[in-house]
Amino acid sequence: MTAGPTTRAERMALPLARTVVKDLAAEHGACLRPVQLRRTDIDTGHVEQVLIPCWHTLASVCPSCAERARILRAAQCREGWHLDHEPVIDPDPATGQQRAAVTDRAEAQADRDALANEGLDTSELDDRIGELDQQITDTRLRGQVLPARPRRHRSTRHRQDAAPLPRRPVSARTVGKTYVAPDGKTFRPSLFVTLTCPSYGRVGEDGAPADPDIYDYRGAARDALHFAALFDRFIQNLRRFVGYDLQYFAAIEPQRRLAPHVHIAIRGTISRAELREVIAATYHQVWWPSIESVRYDGDCLPVWDDHTGTFLDPDTGEVLPTWDETLDAIGHEDEPLHVARFGARFDAQGVLAGSRDASRCIGYLTKYLTKHIGDCHQAANGNQADHAARLAEALRYEPCSATCANWLRFGIQPKNARPGLRPGACKGKAHRREYLGYAGRRVLVSRKWSGKTLADHRADRRTWLTTALGLPATDPARYTWEPVTPGDPDHMPNGQRLLHVVADRIQWQTALDLARRRAAEADLSATGRVA
Ligand SMILES: [Zn+2]
Ligand SMILES: [Zn+2]
Repeated sequence: MTAGPTTRAERMALPLARTVVKDLAAEHGACLRPVQLRRTDIDTGHVEQVLIPCWHTLASVCPSCAERARILRAAQCREGWHLDHEPVIDPDPATGQQRAAVTDRAEAQADRDALANEGLDTSELDDRIGELDQQITDTRLRGQVLPARPRRHRSTRHRQDAAPLPRRPVSARTVGKTYVAPDGKTFRPSLFVTLTCPSYGRVGEDGAPADPDIYDYRGAARDALHFAALFDRFIQNLRRFVGYDLQYFAAIEPQRRLAPHVHIAIRGTISRAELREVIAATYHQVWWPSIESVRYDGDCLPVWDDHTGTFLDPDTGEVLPTWDETLDAIGHEDEPLHVARFGARFDAQGVLAGSRDASRCIGYLTKYLTKHIGDCHQAANGNQADHAARLAEALRYEPCSATCANWLRFGIQPKNARPGLRPGACKGKAHRREYLGYAGRRVLVSRKWSGKTLADHRADRRTWLTTALGLPATDPARYTWEPVTPGDPDHMPNGQRLLHVVADRIQWQTALDLARRRAAEADLSATGRVA
């Protein structure tokens, strides 16, 4: 028998049991934060504890789930890029229950409008309509029968100007052209495009500005805040320009200079000259109130008034103009708060289905998806750290949305104003360092890309796995599921859940290896190459 460690240093050098469990779980690709569910078999009453993955997309939270999510995105990207047939996404016919719910809703609307016509009180029917809308959602119908709120009517002067581009009617086609080579071979090339923001000042190799004092941090902050809207405009313009329902899979990432850029896999092909034309003509105007003059700062901030539910000037008690009032006050001679454009430099390359290039590009598209946008490039020197700090400071007081607390700084009540708002302390994600001003989705996929949702792609993988393992398909209607909470007698603490998932992973990895070996052997014997 060996003697145990005696000194404190020796004991501290021993690995911590719990860390080893976590490391093992990560090594075997098991979720580090499994969620416990109680599954009851309706027929037999048999109760089982089931651990399901957390499906977090950040590696800093759950490396295994984040990696699985990344692989799933790569599969989604690959499946849609070179489709040679139109993806079928016809919705299922409505069920009897769904039709009945919509019929009730129609009757309630007719009754309500009849009352309104007579100038009578509609509040009771309005409540009923609210309930019916909820019921319609509960029957699993997508969307609403009516838009939630009537849209604001704005003067046409402040609508987005149309880009000066030739406009073709957009056909329903989503699949690119096929080219036939002289030898009869067919090609269906697609595109990989990278769009960047314009220059805000010269930057060095490390992305830090050559002269931070003249670098346009305000422009950089605003472009980042409105990057998603600019991308939408680009796709809209591109579709009108090419004349078909062009499909894309795009990933938004930061460059070294911490400005967002977007990699786009596009189905079908467009010439460089045409792309250049569309990029040059694309811009997004931000018709927000002016923020040129700071009205409230430091300790002098607007105060909330409970009676009126509005913010007041701290000295005069005057009610600050509301969001809608300030929007309506934007005059004909006013300029938009900001006009976002892409930089003139872009990258575009043709990519063929199944090629090495295609795999490489899918690698680019999914490379950083498991990290926060602000964690993709860690500052390695003082200049980079200083640059990140200056950008964060520029983003601190820029309004991120109509509801941003920063509007108070400029004497405007944010939309849906509520007590506790403080300029410079807006809770919007865009202001946080890890987002660098871009709080939108990291992956933007058009609706008819692969014709499948992420959940469909996930189900594909599950089906593949159960088939490979020769497991029987389970009937989902046979079970009821309940979450298990810490107060429940059958609740397992996280440590115990981790031990279970490690054991499970090892068990079915062994089973999968076996199934693969068998399949390979069957292939070999089928070709008669077995020794
Ligand atoms: Zn997880
Ligand atoms: Zn904000």
